[in-house]
Amino acid sequence: MLILDGKIASAAVKATLLAQTQALTTEGKRAPHLAAILVGNNGASETYVASKVKNCEETGFESTLIRLDVAVSEKILLDKIIELNNNPSIDGILVQLPLPKHIDEAKVIETINPAKDVDGFHPANVGRLVQGLPTFIPATPYGILLMLAHFDIPTKGKNAVVIGRSNIVGRPMSILLSSNIPQGNCTVTLCHSHTKNLKEICLEADIIIAALGVPNFLTCDMIKPGAVIVDVGITRVEDATAKKGFRIKGDVNYEEACAKASAITPVPGGVGLMTIAGLLKNTMKAFEASQNK
Ligand code: NAD
Repeated sequence: MLILDGKIASAAVKATLLAQTQALTTEGKRAPHLAAILVGNNGASETYVASKVKNCEETGFESTLIRLDVAVSEKILLDKIIELNNNPSIDGILVQLPLPKHIDEAKVIETINPAKDVDGFHPANVGRLVQGLPTFIPATPYGILLMLAHFDIPTKGKNAVVIGRSNIVGRPMSILLSSNIPQGNCTVTLCHSHTKNLKEICLEADIIIAALGVPNFLTCDMIKPGAVIVDVGITRVEDATAKKGFRIKGDVNYEEACAKASAITPVPGGVGLMTIAGLLKNTMKAFEASQNK
């Protein structure tokens, strides 16, 4: 059984990006620049943003972290985004989700200039993705495509099941896997909380993308022998024996799945690392487009 190791696949993507950045600076050009906005101090969001900033450093990118108080008004946040939209030295903008309840997430996403929307959440970019036009692919589905490419996982003609229909993972993933692209051309079934006979559907799958946020949901009785399992789930499960008081759990029962799968992503160390690789690639793409204007 092959472990789809995110450390290995993301290191390969980052090495290419670092070489590109070094070539830019050798030519006297500036490096790509990502701006991240973090509202409040949600523990998981803090960890994700810190990791994105660290990965920018590792690839030679510039990064700016903007911290706003949890009680910040929607107007101040939108103004901050507009300021970043108008700043020519910023290539990519990400607003770490989720946002506090008093802020309209859709409005925030729509305020980001689509040309700097490196998370790929703006409706203009989602529309382009649906139509197969060049766009920013949302970072997690993009990371999964990069992972499948790195490990040469064949997808053409395969049955793929995506569990979860969120705008950031499940839905774009289902569209990409069904698209006519190198890691696509699957026959895709998109499942969600109202899906009936999920177990039977999963048993038909050559590839399963589990993105529902329910720890250990996918068990061995749902997996066809030889299936490829991609575990997107990240849930903090309380555990007094763990140093931090919690452990990170995926949506797949890893031990059980290992007995059936031909390939599987671990959690942690799988899709999470690839998400950052996808984000960095999008930031480089935004930078390149801005230089060619
Ligand atoms: P979400 O939390 O917005 O939605 C969950 C989806 O799962 C919904 O579409 C729902 O219909 C479906 N669902 C819930 N229970 C189900 C069930 N019993 N059967 C079938 N479908 C069910 O989704 P999200 O934001 O995509 O997050 C999903 C998981 O992925 C979370 O654990 C999140 O932390 C994780 N995540 C990881 C990364 C990463 O980089 N690894 C990135 C984003 C999200």
